Amino acid sequence: MKAYTYVERGRFELLDKPKPALLDPRDAIVRVTLGSICTSDLHIKHGSVPRAVPGVTVGHEMVGVVEQVGGAVSSVAVGDRVAVNVETFCGECFFCRRGYVNNCTDPDGGWALGCRIDGGQAEYVRVPHADRGLSRIPDTVSDEQALFAGDILATGYWAARIAEISPGDTVLILGAGPTGICTLLCARLRRPGRIIVCERSSVRRRFVREHYPDVLVCGPEECRDWVLGCSDRGGADAVLEVAGSEQTFRLAWECARPNAVVTVVALYDRPQTLPLPDMYGKNLTFKTGGVDGCDCAEILRLIAAGEIDTTPLITHRYPLQRIGEAYDLFENRRDGVVKVTIAG
Ligand SMILES: [Zn+2]
Ligand SMILES: [Zn+2]
Repeated sequence: MKAYTYVERGRFELLDKPKPALLDPRDAIVRVTLGSICTSDLHIKHGSVPRAVPGVTVGHEMVGVVEQVGGAVSSVAVGDRVAVNVETFCGECFFCRRGYVNNCTDPDGGWALGCRIDGGQAEYVRVPHADRGLSRIPDTVSDEQALFAGDILATGYWAARIAEISPGDTVLILGAGPTGICTLLCARLRRPGRIIVCERSSVRRRFVREHYPDVLVCGPEECRDWVLGCSDRGGADAVLEVAGSEQTFRLAWECARPNAVVTVVALYDRPQTLPLPDMYGKNLTFKTGGVDGCDCAEILRLIAAGEIDTTPLITHRYPLQRIGEAYDLFENRRDGVVKVTIAG
């Protein structure tokens, strides 16, 4: 089968590989019907994910059809349409039992697919711990509708959940890339009074204005004055930092009102500074880290109910055979690209 492979730093190639086989009774083999490219794939390509193993098939955003299951798999069956979770997790360790599946201590726990073990930019993928990592897609939900449930939408859902947003709150979201927009869609479910999105790119600002006219949009330069001007509590009640720059990290705590929760989902390429003397008395709570992607079934239910729709994010569509072109477009952010799909 064809599999897009991390060959060496800076180089991915579409190679012929054997179709994956079951290695454990808890495994499933999924025929990938639709996948996507994530910014994390680019991080692997450029060598900034040291855990990524050369030779590995990349890709961790996909949906498909169950082709084969091991003897211990009970939640999905051959022929089921499924969304694949970015994280594999055992469901039994200390962290999994508390919902912190990103910290699962199983050897395959956490983000393994398309990083440490073969992923889904291929015709087939082996999914360990299939009972946890696969969610059945409701019949009324299309592949395109379900595509992001296991990764960027899981991240947005998790971020909005831990951000402690109350009805009526002013919410600031820093960054309107694909994950920022998923975060926006999930923050809305919490019925805040107002959402402000701060984004540096004018193309992305326009995308938000066009699709979500109820959201206030600003650039990073005017963000602080804007947010403070919009609030009679000295800042936003909840801040979600999904951009990952020095400037947005600073804005995250500057724009938060006293006693706010600042949720940092972004991945930075260098350490950031918390100037504690400047923040003294603001009594902020910071929450950080990678997604605990364990709400996939609930996300699919919300998609089926029409509460979440990520299909406007899909701007371009490619077959697996032309995945190299899709990467080129996505990486260079040409032609207003937000997300591309890769059809198996
Ligand atoms: Zn991803
Ligand atoms: Zn675990």
